[in-house]
Amino acid sequence: MTPKACRLKDSRTPLSCSRRAAGLARAAACLILFTTVAWDAVGASYGLRPQPVAPGVYVFPGSQDALTPDNGANIANTGFIVGSREVLAVEAGPTRRYGKEMLAAIRSVTDLPVRYAVITHRHPDHSFGLGAFREAGIDVLMHPAEAEGLANEGPALLEFMTALVGEAWTQGTTIEAPSETLTEDRHVDLGDRPVDILVLEGGHSSGDLVVHDRTSGVAFFGDLLFVGRAATVPHADIGVWLMHLDRLESLPWTTGVPGHGPILDDPARFADTRDWIRFLRSRILEAVLTGESPAEVLDPGVPEPFAGMVEAGPTFGRAVLQLYRRYEAMDPAELDALAQ
Ligand SMILES: [Zn+2]
Repeated sequence: MTPKACRLKDSRTPLSCSRRAAGLARAAACLILFTTVAWDAVGASYGLRPQPVAPGVYVFPGSQDALTPDNGANIANTGFIVGSREVLAVEAGPTRRYGKEMLAAIRSVTDLPVRYAVITHRHPDHSFGLGAFREAGIDVLMHPAEAEGLANEGPALLEFMTALVGEAWTQGTTIEAPSETLTEDRHVDLGDRPVDILVLEGGHSSGDLVVHDRTSGVAFFGDLLFVGRAATVPHADIGVWLMHLDRLESLPWTTGVPGHGPILDDPARFADTRDWIRFLRSRILEAVLTGESPAEVLDPGVPEPFAGMVEAGPTFGRAVLQLYRRYEAMDPAELDALAQ
């Protein structure tokens, strides 16, 4: 795949208009444009700029912060792959506004049609923008269990997210269904560009999808991989997740895009997720077996070497409550099996 085959467009920005300004009137117009762009960046524009990670593969990196009014819930990595005939988008972002801006940003790179949008799982920062893709007639793919979870939990989570980041971002966002669901791996060809969509059930969520571009070796791991940030576990089965990480590590990938955190080329960073979720399981299991309360687990704070991870404290607080409740409800035989 060459850049020519991707039909890349000129990437000049509107700011280059200053060089073209021929008189006072034009300079004034340019100032107005600049002021508008600056206001949008502070107000309600995500300012998405595609970052190339391989020929024909681009990422929109999410913020490593918590959900805040500054980032509008733009905390997950999203991206797209350009073939010689069509484009596949990965994730839809947290709001309809994000989905629309993502589609516009894809347009700044290629005028080929966006054929697919693969939503790796139901969590709001990955899925809530999918209405913008449906509206544009794009095939939106999800695992059926995740589509069901999105329909059931989405409305309450949208209210919660709006309270955290503000209505300026979430306005117009509605909870929509994918156009297609899949329970088995799927192979698609974007035109001289074979891409695998892998189904990994029951790990981080009930049905995580992973996108692997065979041409470049770029893999979008979704939230099966967090780098430098504490992985969240509200719907996780940690034992299955650990098995999925082994499978993903052995894929022939060269560039990995985690759901959260910097892009990686070294599988050693899988330890960020693997060690953290192993720790959560063993620490909380120990507490349930010895009769310690969740408060006693939380009291000393997040131990080393995890304390420096982004969002470690709040994620630990939620994870202890989520897993404690789940493990406490298990019978002794199940707990024994988990402890092995
Ligand atoms: Zn997630």
